[in-house]
Amino acid sequence: MNSNQKLLATLPKVDVILSHLESSENFSTPRRLAKIVIRRTIERERETILAGGNVPSRSLEEWLELVKRNIRKKQDPNLKRIINGTGVVVHTNLGRSILSRQCTESLTRAGGFYSNLEFDLQSGKRGSRYSLVEELICDLTGAEAAIVVNNNAAAVLLALDTLAKDREVIVSRGQLVEIGGSFRIPDVMKKSGASLVEVGATNRTHLRDYENAITPETALLLRVHTSNFRIIGFTSDVSAEEMVELAGKKNLFTMEDLGSGCLVDLSRYGFPKEPTVQEIVKAGVDVVTFSGDKLLGGPQAGIIVGCSEVIQKIKENPLNRALRIDKFTLSSLESVLREYYDTENALAKIPTLAMLTIENRELKKRALRIQRRLKKTVQAGCDFKIVSTVSRVGGGALPEYSIPSWAVELVPEKMKLSSLEKRLRDLEIPVIGRIENEHFLLDIRTVGDHEVVDLVGQLEVFFKDGEKSD
Ligand SMILES: *Cc1c(COP(=O)(O)O)cnc(C)c1O
Repeated sequence: MNSNQKLLATLPKVDVILSHLESSENFSTPRRLAKIVIRRTIERERETILAGGNVPSRSLEEWLELVKRNIRKKQDPNLKRIINGTGVVVHTNLGRSILSRQCTESLTRAGGFYSNLEFDLQSGKRGSRYSLVEELICDLTGAEAAIVVNNNAAAVLLALDTLAKDREVIVSRGQLVEIGGSFRIPDVMKKSGASLVEVGATNRTHLRDYENAITPETALLLRVHTSNFRIIGFTSDVSAEEMVELAGKKNLFTMEDLGSGCLVDLSRYGFPKEPTVQEIVKAGVDVVTFSGDKLLGGPQAGIIVGCSEVIQKIKENPLNRALRIDKFTLSSLESVLREYYDTENALAKIPTLAMLTIENRELKKRALRIQRRLKKTVQAGCDFKIVSTVSRVGGGALPEYSIPSWAVELVPEKMKLSSLEKRLRDLEIPVIGRIENEHFLLDIRTVGDHEVVDLVGQLEVFFKDGEKSD
């Protein structure tokens, strides 16, 4: 036997491990799951051996421990709660907006009980799910009509398919944006069956460019929010008002993909001026689309507002059924929209807006509180500092804008920062921070007051375990 074969021969049998596990105290894992985990654990070991890797020889006890650990891991939810110390408020990889308590309560209600999702309580007949939020959206945006779908990508697809299938859509070259995750305006356009007519230059597009490109095949003039990039320097752009005026003369529809779409003018809180949904609607654009989970601060959704004629057409498009919004989304979307009747209330209650507009000195206070508690609970292994840093909005909104913030810096005694970063991701509640110029930071903007206890608790456990394993 060569050494590989010897090692392979030491691998235990699945049934042996299983019977030992099942006779151990308090073992309640379903047999099917236990078997799968045991088989995989042994298989992984076999692969390591065959690849010439190092495997420790394990006693039966050690095998049982390893398998139990893997079973625990397997039983953990795959979609985990995490602590976001990145300072990116609308972080697409971390779930974008988090919901207010009202929103999560409506989610639970919609899930745990029957509801009037498509049932008109007045007539006792079939109702429309869209009517649950349409009036609210119209109140808040000033639009005549509205419909909601799965996300903004779906909203754009549906609107283009409805208004411009087999026809031409004119867009400025400077607005042919790619959002992360492969959403590209030209690609969505292709899928909708509309053909793209690019006008202008990358940095400058004039009204005459649109005008000269209009043919009998033109259906729509489209503006797209450039979301995640900025063209700076010698630039010019056609405003929504100008576009609407031209479209009126030529009897064409207008559309704007606003991307993030905000209902509150954040420039009053020091942010760069961005058009609100209301302003674009007021400019007379026929159909405006935006996301539910970016600056709006709600669940993943695509909101389409506009004139009744166009929204009616969209409602009748059979594609709509495939992009339909579900009852959880509708319930929490309704809740978040209700917060907007009072702007101050919206800024306080909607986590995304609250995190963006919290006073800098409040962040510093929170950071100091976290530092104090950490210094008390983590006795050795790491020092904690308070440093000023900058946060980002995220979600493609205001890409160049940095918001002054405060962070707790972790300064481990022995560990490399890359290893600290990796191991914090492995915690029961993973803690995600960012390494910046050789410093590991937890930006406190995205760590809510109610998360402080958990953050401190996780780090306490981490540094205790860390000492043991070092
Ligand atoms: C984010 C974004 C989208 C995609 O919205 P989802 O809700 O993620 O589908 C489309 N267009 C623009 C301009 C965006 O910023």
